[in-house]
Amino acid sequence: MTTAGDSVIRQGDWTLWTLSADVTGSPPILEATCTTCDDSSGAAEETKQPEVWCLSHAHQTGHTGFRMITTSFLQRVHGKRGLFRDGCTGPKGDA
Ligand SMILES: [Zn+2]
Repeated sequence: MTTAGDSVIRQGDWTLWTLSADVTGSPPILEATCTTCDDSSGAAEETKQPEVWCLSHAHQTGHTGFRMITTSFLQRVHGKRGLFRDGCTGPKGDA
């Protein structure tokens, strides 16, 4: 089952675990690559730097196609119902 912004895996009525955006570390990382020559903007935390690189690269090379890659970080969090903690067993004694 997937809810807005979170991925949730359920077994019956039990919430086993969820994945959420990891807001404790780096924000999403953005990088643009040229689809003609595979040159890259390098990693950035804001969209402006890769976008400016695309325009500059297009001006210098005539290449016009680009790919924007976003790397986001996730973390597993305990089920929303709080049924499991690390080291606890599942509903049928499953670890
Ligand atoms: Zn290129």
